[in-house]
Amino acid sequence: MSQANSTIAPASRAADQPVALAFDIAVVGAGPAGLAAATAAAQHGKTVVLIDAAAHIGGQYWRHPDERNPRGSEDDGHHDWNAFVQLRDRLRTGMRSSRIVHLANTHVWFLETTGPTISDQGSGWILHLTPTTDTAPNRPLAVRGRRLILCPGGYDRQLPIPGWDRPGVMAAGGVQALLKGHRSLAGRRAVVAGTGPFLLPVAKQLAEAGATVVAVCEANRLTGWARHARSVIGVPAKAIEGAEYASALARHRIRYRTRTAVIRIDPDAAGTRAGTVHLAKLDADGRIVRRLNAVDVDLVALGWGFTPSMELITAAGAETRVDLDQSLVAVVDDNQRATVPGLYIAGEATGVGGAQLAVAEGELAGIAAAGAELEQAGRIRALRRRISRFRAFASAMHAAHPVPECWHDWLTPETLVCRCEEVSYNTVRLARDELVQCRAFRR
Ligand SMILES: Cc1cc2nc3c(=O)[nH]c(=O)nc-3n(C[C@H](O)[C@H](O)[C@H](O)COP(=O)(O)OP(=O)(O)OC[C@H]3O[C@@H](n4cnc5c(N)ncnc54)[C@H](O)[C@@H]3O)c2cc1C
Repeated sequence: MSQANSTIAPASRAADQPVALAFDIAVVGAGPAGLAAATAAAQHGKTVVLIDAAAHIGGQYWRHPDERNPRGSEDDGHHDWNAFVQLRDRLRTGMRSSRIVHLANTHVWFLETTGPTISDQGSGWILHLTPTTDTAPNRPLAVRGRRLILCPGGYDRQLPIPGWDRPGVMAAGGVQALLKGHRSLAGRRAVVAGTGPFLLPVAKQLAEAGATVVAVCEANRLTGWARHARSVIGVPAKAIEGAEYASALARHRIRYRTRTAVIRIDPDAAGTRAGTVHLAKLDADGRIVRRLNAVDVDLVALGWGFTPSMELITAAGAETRVDLDQSLVAVVDDNQRATVPGLYIAGEATGVGGAQLAVAEGELAGIAAAGAELEQAGRIRALRRRISRFRAFASAMHAAHPVPECWHDWLTPETLVCRCEEVSYNTVRLARDELVQCRAFRR
């Protein structure tokens, strides 16, 4: 076991100085997967550095207000909070024994492998860090880990529609992040739209915080789940969660409309709120079959599922594949080992599948990276069974809630596709046509 150096090197370290902090295992991401990975590895005797860009542990699923300044009960709006408390206790135990160092507010912006010849500390990984706030000035610029576990999670998948760049139109995950992290309501009268089960907690949490949710618009039919009944039965907790949401929607009189989408948003005169939201009924491929009455709201929460953060995974050179939901995901074996030696990957980055799956994968990655597979053979078998059940449920979810194939029929030539660079749908189409013509000409 290498010694975890608890002295944090100042950020002014010269580039040619050796990396100050060396650990057996570096874990990126303190969400469900990373917390489980770090605590499992530490329990098996390894020194661990756990790095996260956020101020608090918990990732997206267990996002919560500042623990030093709580507002309301800390488990408000959360599922599986007990699982989080257990992981947090284990993390604190690990930190007290100096086995785990947690670097919060710290972004990993680059990583590289080290060969045995570079230093006397053996081969492994160097992670290059930058603080995300100026209240964390004494962060090291880099840390070293003999093994690396990447748990970078994911983010909301978005589709551009006319008006999606207006004030009051937000990613559903962003709306929820304001509620969970700051107890703050993004609007008083809302429509929640897109596809997937995630629309339900967002609508419920908005309503419980005092908003009027005019409708939840789900682009698909729920009958898509019927073909995967066995996968749903395998994870009864998810079915119970779904029933809880259905009852919350009924209690708050929120209309749940299937095969319905928000296809355009016209801003209000002041341009400060979402404005008029145009809804349409869709066919199975997402073509508009009928326009519905428009509604006036100040908030539109759009969510089309999640997609993994792949930056560090591709930077590490790990093999990737396209998952059922068309997301790029990491290839791992049944010990969460990636195709690059010394690298393990867990959580959303191996395929979007939810927090419980992320915890199971994280624990397995922690055990495997710590080299404790033999002594933990029974636990590993149990984790693999759990992973397989949750993976089957995730596959059912992706099959039941695809992004409708013809969603781009809703766009106009002027619709902004890239809000940062202000690139329109028409510009993208022209570029594509030009590329196709060039290829045809070369042939
Ligand atoms: C916005 C959003 C809201 C969600 N809400 C729900 C919900 O209500 N119910 C539900 O069942 N599921 C929800 N999910 C899905 C659920 O959060 C995930 O399934 C679960 O959190 C996955 O755990 P994870 O550990 O893989 O990733 P995450 O929880 O996403 O954690 C990843 C962590 O990695 C950190 N990170 C990433 N890159 C870097 C880097 N380069 N340097 C440093 N740190 C880094 C991030 O800050 C983050 O804390 C949500 C997902 C998102 C994106």
